Amino acid sequence: MRLSRYFLPVLKETPSEAKIVSHRYMLRAGLIKQASAGIYSWLPMGFKILRKLENIVHQEQQRAGHIPMLMPTLQTADLWRESGRYDAYGPEMLRMKDRHDRDMLFSPTAEEMFTDVFRSNVTSYKDLPLTLYQIQWKFRDEIRPRFGVMRGREFFMKDGYNFDLTKEDALHAYNRHLVSYLRTYERMGLQAIPMRADSGPIGGDYTHEFLVLAETGESEVFYDSQITDLTFGDREIDYDDVAQCQAVLEEFTSRYARTDETHVEDEFTAQVPEDRRRVARGIEVGQIFYFGTQYSDKMGAMVTDENGVRVPVHMGSHGIGVSRLLGAIIEASHDDKGIIWPEGVTPFHCGIVNLKPGVAEADEACDALYKSITALGLEPLLDDRKDSAGAKFATMDLIGLPWRITVGPRGLKNGVVEVTCRRTGESEEMTPEMAVEKIARIYGPHVGADLTQPMPQRAFHTWM
Ligand code: ATP
Ligand code: MG
Repeated sequence: MRLSRYFLPVLKETPSEAKIVSHRYMLRAGLIKQASAGIYSWLPMGFKILRKLENIVHQEQQRAGHIPMLMPTLQTADLWRESGRYDAYGPEMLRMKDRHDRDMLFSPTAEEMFTDVFRSNVTSYKDLPLTLYQIQWKFRDEIRPRFGVMRGREFFMKDGYNFDLTKEDALHAYNRHLVSYLRTYERMGLQAIPMRADSGPIGGDYTHEFLVLAETGESEVFYDSQITDLTFGDREIDYDDVAQCQAVLEEFTSRYARTDETHVEDEFTAQVPEDRRRVARGIEVGQIFYFGTQYSDKMGAMVTDENGVRVPVHMGSHGIGVSRLLGAIIEASHDDKGIIWPEGVTPFHCGIVNLKPGVAEADEACDALYKSITALGLEPLLDDRKDSAGAKFATMDLIGLPWRITVGPRGLKNGVVEVTCRRTGESEEMTPEMAVEKIARIYGPHVGADLTQPMPQRAFHTWM
């Protein structure tokens, strides 16, 4: 993409309504624009990143054997009356009437809708296990929408629902989700720690929240510092292997890690030596639940088992806050100049800054770099505008592309361009050919990532 032809409405001023750094940078970098309280328009670059996160979530869900589909955002109240949640949900549910005076609502989550599809179509244990999911806009009329996309009213969420014959099978589905979430967050360059959580209105005994540590997080968290040494890495997982998924769950959840809702100080001090006890803040980026048969009982989601007996299915639901993740990634990865995107989610793989647009050698060198990098299957963002070098660098730093290639007539006289790492700020001079090779080495193994193959951690292959 050439910046001269793109739509990137970068702001010079810091918007005063933004209280935290991710919100400020998302507005300043032209990623989002507020439409009304807690509701945002996604401008081209914000939309591009949102799509990348969505793609990663799709890939990792499908790798785990979960099946994508799409539910309507507007639902009838009748379904929600069956589960009892139409009255229970409270003012966070946005309610409306259609022209026939029927009660409708904008889905804040979708247990009822998925359970309804299930019960209308599945009658036998032979069709289990089954996990269906969607990535769809949700609406919750939050009392205090704030921090930009972190606590919006409209937000983009992956929600998945497992249907299993037995509790044991449903717990395997729970473990599978935990494993797939660990992979998902790591590919986004994030450490999200599974913490024992409170099941709240959904109910049930098994639930973990995934938290990204950040000072601006809304939850207080208590954990054993050893947890932050754990990484999922490139290990291969057979998602059908019950013991393997269980072992990962144990590895990542056996140490003390809880949100304030489940924290018990005595247990904390008994289980964790003092020098490893940490109290911090975290951003909730996902949650998994097993809740048994409570929805299937109420809504009649039954299958016949091996003996021909009709039994309610065991269910769980599992969410990832896709739009909130943009904010969480920025909270975890930025400096005083702007965002620093992890390679796995960056909107463009590198920036190319032409210091002298209109000067033939500079233009030609930039075009050649642009073509070579594009030929690798990567997307460069070429700043070909007539602007000062300082202003161009400031924009590149603000929007946070991990790598920048700077091209100017002076360097070209010596046959070199400059390659700068956004994270370290270190620059290196090299020939344009070597610069292309370097970018290829950084992203190369991930080009054309194939869903059937073990996934390199930072693949950017797109799903759509
Ligand atoms: P919270 O406690 O932050 O209100 P929740 O526990 O009610 O969230 P879930 O029902 O578990 O949320 O939804 C799954 C995920 O969706 C959450 O982990 C979070 O990342 C995201 N999410 C929930 N509410 C919002 C919101 N208002 N804005 C953006 N993302 C949200
Ligand atoms: Mg939650």
